Amino acid sequence: GLSSRLQETFQRLRGKGKLTEDDVKEAMREVRLALLEADVNFKVVKQFVEKVRERAIGQEVLKSLTPGQQVIKIVNDELTELMGGTQSRIAQAAKPPTVVMMVGLQGAGKTTTTGKLANLLKKQNRYPLLVAGDIYRPAAIKQLQVLGEQVKTSVFSLGDQVSPVEIAKQAVEHAKMHGFDYVLIDTAGRLHVDEALMDELKQIRDAVQPEEILLVVDAMTGQDAVNVAENFHQQLGITGTILTKLDGDTRGGAALSIRAVTGTPVKFAGMGEKLDALEPFHPDRMASRILGMGDVLSLIEKAQETIDQEKAQEASKRMMSGEFSLEDFLEQMQQLKKMGPLQDILGMLPGLGNNKALKNVNIDDKQIGRVEAIIRSMTPKERLDPKVMNASRRRRIAAGSGTTVQDVNRLLNQFAEMQRMMKQLPGLAKRMNKKKGKK
Ligand code: GDP
Ligand code: MG
Repeated sequence: GLSSRLQETFQRLRGKGKLTEDDVKEAMREVRLALLEADVNFKVVKQFVEKVRERAIGQEVLKSLTPGQQVIKIVNDELTELMGGTQSRIAQAAKPPTVVMMVGLQGAGKTTTTGKLANLLKKQNRYPLLVAGDIYRPAAIKQLQVLGEQVKTSVFSLGDQVSPVEIAKQAVEHAKMHGFDYVLIDTAGRLHVDEALMDELKQIRDAVQPEEILLVVDAMTGQDAVNVAENFHQQLGITGTILTKLDGDTRGGAALSIRAVTGTPVKFAGMGEKLDALEPFHPDRMASRILGMGDVLSLIEKAQETIDQEKAQEASKRMMSGEFSLEDFLEQMQQLKKMGPLQDILGMLPGLGNNKALKNVNIDDKQIGRVEAIIRSMTPKERLDPKVMNASRRRRIAAGSGTTVQDVNRLLNQFAEMQRMMKQLPGLAKRMNKKKGKK
C-alpha cells in the first residue's frame, strides 16, 4: 500500500548527512500520492508539497533523526499548521443568548451533533436551548427531543406546521425570556446542496443573526465533503466545521481540504454515536492520520533502538499466533519501560490513543517488580492460560507475591486487554519484521 511505499521511500533516505533535491523530490512524490489518496484536494496538495519541498531541501539532518524522519517531521508540522491550531471553542455573544446554527447535508450528523454540543455546553455550566428546526423529516423533531431528554436540556419545537424561520425567531425570544445562554438550531438537510435548502438557511440566518454557523460534515464522504463545504461557505458563510464519523476508517483528508478551502477552522470531531463522543479537533493527530501511519514509523524507530531484536521477533510471532503468554507480557513490559511511558507508545498506534483500559497503565520499576512477583507466583500452566485461575488461586498468588487480589486482577485485565490489542495489530508486527529483515 501507499503507506509502506512511503516508508520505503523514507528508508532510502536513511544514512545521508544531507538531503539532496532529488531525494526530497522523490519523497514528495510519495507524499503527494498519499495525500491524494487521503482525499486531500489536489490544489491543496500542490501548494502543500511545494512548501514542504522548500523547507526540506538542504536542511541539515539533526543528529538524532534520520533524514527520512526529518522529512516526515516537516510534512507532519506543515500538515498540522495547515489545519490550524486547536480552536475548539464556540463563540460567545456579547449579549446572550449566543445563537448557533447547525447546517449540513442529510445524514451528516447535524441532529446528533446538536445534542452532543448541548452536552458539552452543559458540562461547562451553560444553559443551552435545543431548537427543532428540521420539520421535513418526520422523525427529526422526536430525535432531538430524545437527545434533549438524555442531555437534560430543553427542546424548543413548534411542530412541523410552522416555518423553520418562524421557529428559529420564536426560539431566540423564548431563550431570552427564560435565561438560556445558547440557542442551538438544528436545521434540515438535503441529499445534495440545492437552492431550496440554501434559501431556507439564508432566511433563518438573516432572521436570527447567529454567532456561529457550524457546518456538520461526514468525514467518510471524502472529496464530496470538501465540495459541500465550499458550497455552503460561498452561499451561507460558515464560521467553522464539525467533522463527524471520524471513528470510522476514513483517512480524514477532508479535514485538511475543508480548512484550506473555506479558511474556517475544524472545531470538533465526532468520534461515535454516543452523546459524549465529541472531541476537540487535534490538527497534529489528524496530520498523522492523514499520512496513514499514526506515528508508526517513529514507533518502529524507537523499538529498533531499544528492543532486543531477536526476543522481540520471537515475542511478536507468539503474539500473532495467539500464544502470547504472561511471560511474554512481563518481557514486553520490561522492554517497553526502556522505550518510555506506555501511554506514549500506545498513543502512536493508530486507533489506540484513546483506549480507556490502557490510560491507567503506568510502568515504573516498582510496578514491574510487582508484576514480576505475581507472575513468578503462578504455575507455568497458569502463565500460559490465565483463565484457569479461580478466586482462591488469585488470593494465593496475591499472598505469595506480597500483593493484593486487586493487583492480580488488574494485571490479568491489562494482560487480556493487551492480548486483544495484539490481535488487532497484525499489520504492525509485519511491518516491524519486514524492516528488521532489511537491516
Ligand atoms: P442529520 O441528518 O445530519 O441530522 O444526521 P443525524 O444526526 O440524524 O445522524 C445520522 C447518523 O449518523 C446517525 O445514525 C448518527 O448516529 C450517526 N452519527 C452522527 N455522528 C456520528 C459520529 O461521529 N460517529 C458515528 N459513528 N456516527 C455518527
Ligand atoms: Mg437531523
